[in-house]
Amino acid sequence: VTKKRGVILAIDVGGTFIKCALVNLDGSVHYADRLSTDAKAGGGAVVIRVLAAATMLNRAATIESLRPLAVGLAVPGIVDRAAGVVRSAANLGWSQVNIRRAMTEHMRLPVTLAQDVRAGAVAEARIGAGQGISSFLFVPIGTGIALAHVINGYAQAGAHCSAGEIGHLTVTPRGPRCGCGRRGCLEAIASASALARRYRTRTKRDVTAADVVRLAREGDSVAGIVWTDAIAALATALTAAVAVADPARIVIGGGLAEAGEILLAPLTQAMESRLPHYSRPDISRAWLGDMAGCLGSALLALDDLHPTYASRSEPLSHLARLQ
Ligand SMILES: [Zn+2]
Repeated sequence: VTKKRGVILAIDVGGTFIKCALVNLDGSVHYADRLSTDAKAGGGAVVIRVLAAATMLNRAATIESLRPLAVGLAVPGIVDRAAGVVRSAANLGWSQVNIRRAMTEHMRLPVTLAQDVRAGAVAEARIGAGQGISSFLFVPIGTGIALAHVINGYAQAGAHCSAGEIGHLTVTPRGPRCGCGRRGCLEAIASASALARRYRTRTKRDVTAADVVRLAREGDSVAGIVWTDAIAALATALTAAVAVADPARIVIGGGLAEAGEILLAPLTQAMESRLPHYSRPDISRAWLGDMAGCLGSALLALDDLHPTYASRSEPLSHLARLQ
């Protein structure tokens, strides 16, 4: 009888989709799927869907004769990893949700909870664009904007589990109104949703952020202004972050990273003009796309299963011993 191969049930809860994956012990993805979060149904309903996602992954593992070892769970917002509690996740309708306990009782498996940005950062650090870099910033830009500062493979959560919440930094004091009620927040100018909204306001044309990027590339003047404002806002916020953290690299992730050079080149230029030459990080694209959160939560779950590997100087393949 051959021993069943172990896998991690990885779940990344977003405001729109719950991404799920069976992650092998070497960090590769065996199977991936997604279900809608249906956040409109309320926080309690979202908890039930997250538990259902784990059940679905467990079933998929069983069908493939794999042995689930643990659940890795990435959640947006203010996540207290040590307590296993999501303090606040506005777009899930969650406040003080003990999701780790609920999942542990539901699955009867060890559960690791992580904040989604920090989970994604850990994945980029170990198997993505931050490999071999001892200090870097991971900055996913999508519906919102946040960052994680990774030092030696780990992202610090801070005193209130809110390190890296740069989305509501004021970058333009008289700027556009933000969802938080204030003006000129980074997120109100440079997030994917802000790009679409700001173009729509000026032209009455219904567009997506990807449309705005394409139009800017084609020389559309309104898209050009919206895009230039976004780059300037990002440069202001990230320059402050660089001054605090002194990273060697900035890894841009999230949907907006798809823009590629039209984002990276002017952002690099804008930041170089604001920073002394000795502190300039290189700026590059994330490697793991929208799988970063799932992969990171799985890697952190593996750390919790086998703490020896947490201070990892060894390659991931050593995790094969867990099998
Ligand atoms: Zn705001």
